[in-house]
Amino acid sequence: MSVTESKWEISIGLEVHIQLKTRTKLFSRASNKAPRASPNRNASLVDLAYPGTLPVLNHTAVTHAVRFGVAIGAPIARVCSFERKNYFYPDLPKGYQISQFSQPIVGSGVFDLWLEDGQTKPIKIRRGHLEEDAGKSIHDRVPNATVLDFNRAGAPLLEIVTAPDLNTPMEAVACFRQLHALAIWLDLSTGKLNEGAMRCDANVSLRLAGQDNLGTPTELKNLNSFKFLEKALRYEIDRHTMALSAGQKVQRETRLYDPVSGTTQSMRLKEQEEGYRYFIDPDLPPIPISEEFIARIAQSTPELPSKMRERFIREFGLAPDIAFRLTLEKPLAELFEATAVQCGDTSATANWILGELTALRKLKHSRAQEIPISAKQLAKLILRVEDGTISSKTGKELLRELWDTEIDLDHFIQTRALTQISDSSQISMWVAKVIEENRHLIPKVLQGDEKLIEYLIGQVMKISRGKANPHQVRESLDHEVVAQSKHLSAENSN
Ligand code: ADP
Ligand code: MG
Repeated sequence: MSVTESKWEISIGLEVHIQLKTRTKLFSRASNKAPRASPNRNASLVDLAYPGTLPVLNHTAVTHAVRFGVAIGAPIARVCSFERKNYFYPDLPKGYQISQFSQPIVGSGVFDLWLEDGQTKPIKIRRGHLEEDAGKSIHDRVPNATVLDFNRAGAPLLEIVTAPDLNTPMEAVACFRQLHALAIWLDLSTGKLNEGAMRCDANVSLRLAGQDNLGTPTELKNLNSFKFLEKALRYEIDRHTMALSAGQKVQRETRLYDPVSGTTQSMRLKEQEEGYRYFIDPDLPPIPISEEFIARIAQSTPELPSKMRERFIREFGLAPDIAFRLTLEKPLAELFEATAVQCGDTSATANWILGELTALRKLKHSRAQEIPISAKQLAKLILRVEDGTISSKTGKELLRELWDTEIDLDHFIQTRALTQISDSSQISMWVAKVIEENRHLIPKVLQGDEKLIEYLIGQVMKISRGKANPHQVRESLDHEVVAQSKHLSAENSN
């Protein structure tokens, strides 16, 4: 960071839109599976604002919002209402969006942001409100025309608004990531960023270090990837820094990030609240939310990632960053716990899950809930590698086979263990050959150079085509090196 930059303090607040997992839309019975349908197939007369139609609130969407609120320890409104947010846009057929303004369903709470150094930072959540999504304007499908797809119109969104408590682009990305992970954990949303299931607006301002008031923010709209959020913020912070350092003012406005040029462009001046002429939607009665309803949801909410993380550190002695990585996704955390309990080796389990299994998942583009390997299988595999029945290389191969086919693991381990060569005279011959070819390395090996020893083991594994039992190779190599050392010192004393 340059000297001029460092005198500026950055404040970032996020408005995160979570598309909720429901069968139907927020106020109509049209299907909420828009991304997979052809255009305008999932738009009902309600979504298209035909005269005489009336909205009916989706119960599941309310349940999801309450669950999120409970998860961040926020108060849930005992009565919440819906307001009309009036503005004109071609993809908004009613001429207003039904949203919540004066009585959001989720009140203010705190989200404990996990930072790289293992500390947490409390980020205030100002509110969470339910609202309907707009349709989509598509500018690049028909030449010289904009076409409209209303499949998304009326889709249920939960908007989470944070206070401007985030102080770097990295913190903002971490916050978006962790809210994304929480929404998936709570099963509120598919979280599929490429389908627009979660997107965020980032508000950013700069002020001189030590000043009380925040600077003028600009709003970066509709960021649908972690990378774009980071890049857009970095560009915008540089732009503010340059303007403010030159004594200019930052204009309060909404801007769009263009991934192609890597810049942000002004979209419109910021609408003031009065501009939207919010008023209670007379078609929707106030929604009472009972204590009992909230308690029932709290009861059916799974253990939260933060709680599970603390428990893994406490019960399994995991390092905080390992516990964090294991609790980003619920299916993975559950697989870890069940496997660790069954095989009794916590750190080996963490290694296998965060190492080989994660690599394999990336290769297969698989979501955590799609991992086709059970805790029982993984535990057995780990145990057999740990006790030397199969090599870790074979273990990795077996993991791949387990992923692709329904193999009988016991049978496979048996046949692999049999094909693994444990014939000590054969292994001694390979070891002797490798030592012969690497005579010049022996003095260093004798000094205990672990890297060289591993290199020599690797050479033996290579000429055995991976079949030698690595434990025996190590033993034989140690033995042979000691023998060689006696030989060497005998030579020297002569
Ligand atoms: P508005 O209603 O005008 O959009 P809000 O005060 O409701 O503004 O805040 C919207 C978002 O902008 C919130 O996430 C908030 O944290 C953020 N925000 C507000 N003021 C600032 C500021 N000065 N700097 C950075 N972020 C801000
Ligand atoms: Mg806003």
